[in-house]
Amino acid sequence: MCVVGTAGSVKGVTPAELRELGAEVLLANTYHLFLRPGADIVQRLGGLHQFMGWGGPIVTDSGGYQVFSLGFGLEHGVGKQIGTFPGEDAPRPRGQAPRLVRTDADGATFTSHIDGSRQRLTPELTIKVQEALGADIVLAFDEPTSPLHDATYTAEAMERTHDWARRCLATRTRSDQALFGIVQGGAFADLRTQSARFIGGLPFDGVAIGGSLGKSKADMHSVLDWSVPYVPEPWPRHLLGIGEPEDLFACVALGIDQFDCVAPTRLARHGHLYTSRGRLTINHPEFREDPVPIEEGCACYTCSTGFSRAYLRHLFVAGELLAYTLASLHNLHFILRLMERIRAAVRADALIELRDEFLSRYRSTA
Ligand SMILES: [Zn+2]
Repeated sequence: MCVVGTAGSVKGVTPAELRELGAEVLLANTYHLFLRPGADIVQRLGGLHQFMGWGGPIVTDSGGYQVFSLGFGLEHGVGKQIGTFPGEDAPRPRGQAPRLVRTDADGATFTSHIDGSRQRLTPELTIKVQEALGADIVLAFDEPTSPLHDATYTAEAMERTHDWARRCLATRTRSDQALFGIVQGGAFADLRTQSARFIGGLPFDGVAIGGSLGKSKADMHSVLDWSVPYVPEPWPRHLLGIGEPEDLFACVALGIDQFDCVAPTRLARHGHLYTSRGRLTINHPEFREDPVPIEEGCACYTCSTGFSRAYLRHLFVAGELLAYTLASLHNLHFILRLMERIRAAVRADALIELRDEFLSRYRSTA
């Protein structure tokens, strides 16, 4: 499980705390670091590991998701606007935004969310940027599609992604970075399988499954079924942007090895805390005088120190910054320990038993 440090920091958590939590891999976003502070500055300051004080492995994505979701997020109301699976969320009104992304065969021109300036990313540039940042695993530039794109557009985007995959491989100069290809094809069986076969035939070091995973979690499982069996068996397989507890069991069973997800820290900052009986929302009045920790027996810093639910609720209600740190430490501990248990269960051939035991108690309150 990659802990997500979008702009070179896991919000509210220090690298020392991440090491203490047993976090093994961080994911940082090329799009954000490209725009600010800029890859050249990071490189001159010793590269991303030194810049952010994290000596462990780092993954950088290619920027494709952030660039293209700027466009389809506003046109389709998908992504940050209403969540990954539009079939499972109530739609919200679409913004009257100008066209933010222009795609052509060579790359994409987009508007920076920071200062409104026009920017451009191409396969060649994203590899140069990621080589300058210096992560251990870097991703090819791709064009993800939204669940609301039709088969025709999704096929065109997939073809561009395939062309860009070849160009990324031709551009790479560093042999000390693993380069992963990205499978696209939306929630269309023939496209996903075609993309997995194509990417699987190129000299990548691993693969990420990206883009639209359909309109529901059932669709997501189908997408993995259509993709994962067609990439080389030894390749590590990363599922981009998915990592809720319920998802981990299903996706590991379908052959996924690596995840990244902002959910543990993003939920924590909104006061949503994982427990073995599902999520609780800490600022609810029922916790006003609750003396117990978030979860009895949890070994995280927050729970083992003895901070009560009442104290955490107070910090959230008062807007104290410590609330975000204590909540993030707990949620990260929860998800990292769950992944450890899943890895052990896979080795012991007991994943189904662990899934049934865990999910019989855990009920998502999303
Ligand atoms: Zn805890």
